Amino acid sequence: MSMTNPCIICVAITGSLPTKANNPAVPITVSEQIESTHEAFEAGASIVHAHVRNDDQTPSSDPEKFAALKNGLEKHCPGMIIQFSTGGRSGAGQARGAMLRLQPDMASLSVGSNNFPTRVYDNPPDLVDWLAAEMLAHDVKPEIEAFDLSHILKAHQMWQAGQIAQTPYVQFVMGVKNAMPVDREVFDFYIRTVQRLFGADAPWCAAGIGAQQATLNQWAVAAGGHARTGLEDNVRLDRDRLAPSNAALVRRVVEICDRQERPVATWQQARAILRLQGNSQQGQAA
Ligand SMILES: [Zn+2]
Repeated sequence: MSMTNPCIICVAITGSLPTKANNPAVPITVSEQIESTHEAFEAGASIVHAHVRNDDQTPSSDPEKFAALKNGLEKHCPGMIIQFSTGGRSGAGQARGAMLRLQPDMASLSVGSNNFPTRVYDNPPDLVDWLAAEMLAHDVKPEIEAFDLSHILKAHQMWQAGQIAQTPYVQFVMGVKNAMPVDREVFDFYIRTVQRLFGADAPWCAAGIGAQQATLNQWAVAAGGHARTGLEDNVRLDRDRLAPSNAALVRRVVEICDRQERPVATWQQARAILRLQGNSQQGQAA
């Protein structure tokens, strides 16, 4: 399986929480984000997961910032899969999906609520339905953020109801304080649930928070899944060292892939695995 299953590396470059005070390498302005993504793309990432920020580093959901980021990424990282966040702390209600009309390749979609470190991550059913409908209308592929087992089953229900067009692509998120911890038996059950509901070959991804990022990278690569890294989830290389860049965290996943004898997916392979051939004509021509 390993030689025929390249590993897609997603780099979550910014997020809505980490600041320059946590790690000066966190890209905040759009130009910083483009530069950091380009370096991560060259290191092996084929998906960029992006939030945007105000100049004072607070979260933003301004579609104009997303548009500027998308234009820059298409120019400097042709072919790379662009995924916008509709979650996090960027805004309330439908403001979280105002950038979907820009037609990024993908967007994150949370389909249920759970606790975050200091608050409720509030995803009420009517908002979930609206975000999914916007993604359908604008041909944006959702990535289902599974903070809990019920989110995988909810994605299955939405797929069966026609709210999600293609086989759902699920990301297991583990290690968020007050949500699902890093637990190997749960992780294995998540995989079995995805395979049971979506097919034995259905692709899936995993993300770990903080020091657990490397653990989830190793588990996912070894189990045939895809891997997310980046400064959004973790700003350190280890206990004593800050990560110098998003690319450095991508290179850590590349090394894990090398040890597990899994090739790193090119953007073309990633688009084929995720059935995203339709978008980014500029990239296809490159
Ligand atoms: Zn995010």
